[in-house]
Formats: sequence, structure tokens, C-alpha cells
Amino acid sequence: MTMSDARGTRERLVVIGGDAAGMSAASQARRLRGPDELEIVAFERGHFTSFSACGIPYWVGGDVPDRDRLIARTAEEHRARDIDLRLRTEVTELDLDRGRVRARDVDSGAESWTSYDKLVIATGARPIRPELPGMDAPGVHGVQTLDDGQALLDTLSRTRGRRAVVVGAGYIGVEMAEAMLHRGYEVTVVNRGAEPMATLDPDMGRLVREAMEGMGITMVNDAEVTELLTGDDGGVRAVATEDAEYPADVVVLGIGVRPETTLARAAGLPLGEHGGLLTDRSMRVRGYENIWAGGDCVEVLDLVSGQQRHIPLGTHANKHGQIIGAGAGGGYATFPGVVGTAVSKVCDLEIARTGLREKDAHRVGLRFESVTIESTSRAGYYPNASPMTVKMLAELRTGRLLGVQIVGREGAGKRVDIAAVALTAGMTVDQMTTLDLGYAPPFSPVWDPVLVAARKAATKIRATV
Ligand SMILES: Cc1cc2nc3c(=O)[nH]c(=O)nc-3n(C[C@H](O)[C@H](O)[C@H](O)COP(=O)(O)OP(=O)(O)OC[C@H]3O[C@@H](n4cnc5c(N)ncnc54)[C@H](O)[C@@H]3O)c2cc1C
Repeated sequence: MTMSDARGTRERLVVIGGDAAGMSAASQARRLRGPDELEIVAFERGHFTSFSACGIPYWVGGDVPDRDRLIARTAEEHRARDIDLRLRTEVTELDLDRGRVRARDVDSGAESWTSYDKLVIATGARPIRPELPGMDAPGVHGVQTLDDGQALLDTLSRTRGRRAVVVGAGYIGVEMAEAMLHRGYEVTVVNRGAEPMATLDPDMGRLVREAMEGMGITMVNDAEVTELLTGDDGGVRAVATEDAEYPADVVVLGIGVRPETTLARAAGLPLGEHGGLLTDRSMRVRGYENIWAGGDCVEVLDLVSGQQRHIPLGTHANKHGQIIGAGAGGGYATFPGVVGTAVSKVCDLEIARTGLREKDAHRVGLRFESVTIESTSRAGYYPNASPMTVKMLAELRTGRLLGVQIVGREGAGKRVDIAAVALTAGMTVDQMTTLDLGYAPPFSPVWDPVLVAARKAATKIRATV
């Protein structure tokens, strides 16, 4: 059945997608404009709203004891703030000409149209799930939603075997490898790339692989999964590649995501070369005054390369939501772009990156020098100082910082934020060498590892001028 909605006199903001970007936008708009001025209707096809997918590996691994801790704000909390949140309701069509969306109740199938004055598209990303035999077999799990996490935990509680195969070695893959180790599984990670963590250069990825092997994880690189083999009961029993089979009682997929832009594409909204929606700096969809988009469904400006990229991260989605909410609430804010900062860990190994990798710099025609240094997390004489490797890229002649990658133990990961700030400020490596960073033996050597790398890079740049 298709029904039309009755319009009130207030302005109406419709939000599609009830997680980080969408509900941040709705909440911010509500802060700026009360319910007598602005009606807010948010559609979410899933069971939950404002949840942290980022926490799923730690919930599955047992560090976070229960699912509800990952929910930042419940549906009831949003409704108490006069946001008409409709869970289990999927938007199936955008009618831009008439300014309305068609939505379907996922459980009953009932459909209705809702008109809008302002529209926010925050549909997130869709996990890549190659069409391979056995992909839908019991025991094969994605980890995109809280329902996915629960389904995986249910499988773990039922499964008698103790062999887990993780497909994909990006940050979600390595975090899930840790989770499965914590659950007592023998873990194999099957990875298409030459090394894990393709967001790093391969020489830094190698350090991650070696550390993961040291943790007892079997790392299989350069391997393309061809099939998921099933047993007599129909459940998964192995992951097959062109060369080998890896026995599996459970398979976790962490192969990456693509922007979820089905609705936007059908409506003819502008998409970039990575498939994400294109917006201006105020997160308005290019060419549309009353439509905003943010989070994993959009492309972002990379401030270092000047290129559009798709970088699906919660840290961006929340910021986009704030910017959108300000605009939709009648204010003004802009999102300048990103430098590509990300941090993750596998057990006690911390992995961080910001800016460009060597291949990114080559792709955009930048000439650069790169240096790699070994240092420690604390003064060498202080207890528990642990090794840390820092790689730094700087542009030839100008010495402009282009990127930093860090692999090490405690204290390594968040050091990348120094580089993120330096990149944002457009600093040269020479300028970085005199940064007034905090020092005491329990926190760093007197020359912080990032400064050691900057010094080495500055020396190398000077030698080439
Ligand atoms: C396992 C895991 C770990 C992660 N760890 C980190 C991390 O450590 N750091 C970090 O920065 N990021 C991390 N992320 C990424 C982060 O979770 C996402 O970038 C963030 O959730 C994106 O928010 P979003 O609102 O754009 O999209 P989503 O969170 O995907 O939300 C989009 C919502 O829209 C709904 N939706 C889509 N289409 C429709 C429709 N047609 N109708 C109604 N509803 C619809 C979906 O159901 C979904 O709830 C992680 C992600 C995963 C999966």
C-alpha cells in the first residue's frame, strides 16, 4: 500500500540513515532549532541507532562485555528529543522533483511517502561480499552491524571447532584476528595483498605481518579466495584459494566497503570516481541547496594530495554530521577535508598512518624522499621502553611533510596525531624538528620518535637541494 503523508506547517528535515552521520546531523539540527520550528524524521532500516561499529571487534573479543555499551544513544533517547526516529524502515526511493522519499516498513512491507524541505543522506557504506560459492553458508560472518556481531557471537558459542579464518587484512581484518585470538581460536588471515594493512607502504606492512606471525597468527598473503567450502551439515569448513585450503570452523569477512549510494544514484545525484556522493564544503550535495550528505556514503577532499577520496571512518562521519546539522538547522559550518589519519591495533601492536603512502605520492606526481627510523616509546633506560618504527615522507625541495606511518607497541599509535596536525598546518619536516613536544622519560626519549624521523627527513631533503 502506498500512502501520502499529511504536511504540517513546520519545516521538515528528513534524515536517511540512523547511525553516526545521520543522527549527529539530526541531533545538531535539533540543538539549533526546536520542535516548534523544525520537524525531524529519521529513517533507519536496522534495529539500532547511533551505535559504534568501531567497538564490534572489542565486543566480539570480550574486552567490551555487552552490546548495549556500544550504543551511544538509543532510539528512545532520540525520540525524547523530538526526533521522529523510525527504526526498521527503509527508504526505497528519492523523488527529488516532488521533494519526498518513499519508505517501506521492513517487517510489514507497508509503504508511505514522506515529504521534506531539507534532506540528509547518511546511508553509510556497504561491505564488499564477493559472489563466491559458500559465501552465505552458516559460519560465514561480516562485522558491519550489531546484528552481525551478535550473529558471530552466536556462532562462536555453538561451534565446537577452534579454527577461524579472517578474509582481508585491513584494519577490520587485523582487529578481528585479535578478537578471535582472544576467544581462543587458531587464527589464519587470508589476504589478497603482498602484506597486511594496505593503507601502509609494504615495508611497514611487513612489520605488521611479522608481529602477527609472532602472535601465532598464520598470515597468508597474495592469496585470492576462490570458494568457501562447506561440510555435510551445510556449514563452512574451509576457505579455498587458488593454491590451498584453510580449514575453518568460522570465517570472518573484512574485505572492505563501498559507499552505499543506491538511492542517490537512482535519483541522479552527483557521484565521484570512487562511487561516493560529491558535496561542497558545507556537506551539501553539489548542485542541491536543500540536500546534504555525509559519512561513509560521500567522498572527501584529501588535503595533502588535493584529490577526492573515499575514506570510510567514524571520525569523519561524526564531524560531517555536526556540519550538516549546523547547516540544516539554519547555521553555517564547513568541513575542510581530511589528511587520512587512522590508528588501529592487533593485540599489543599499534599501527598508525596519516597522509600519503609512497604510491599515493607517485600517483599525484609528487617527488619525495622517505626515511625510516627506529626509536623507543620511552627513554631507553626507563622500564618497558618498547621499539617503534616511524616512516616519514617529505616533498623534495620544499620539505613539506607528506605522510607518516608508525608501527610499535604502547604509545606508538596516537603519536601519529602529531603528524596529522603538522600535515594540516602544511608544515615542513624542518619546521617539525623544533616542535615543542612534551618530554619525560616515562613518555618518550628526549627526542620523540616523530622528531627523530623529522630530523632525518630534513637532513635528507637539505642534501638534495
Ligand atoms: C568492525 C568495524 C570497526 C570500525 N572501526 C573504526 C575505527 O576504529 N575508527 C573509525 O574511525 N571508524 C571505524 N569504523 C568505521 C565506522 O564505523 C564508520 O565509518 C561509521 O559507522 C560511518 O558512519 P555512517 O553514519 O556514515 O554510516 P553507517 O554507520 O554505516 O550508518 C548508515 C546507516 O544507514 C542505514 N541505511 C542505509 N541505507 C538506508 C536506507 N535506504 N533506508 C534506511 N536506512 C538506511 C544503515 O542501516 C546504517 O545504520 C569501523 C567499522 C567497522 C565495521
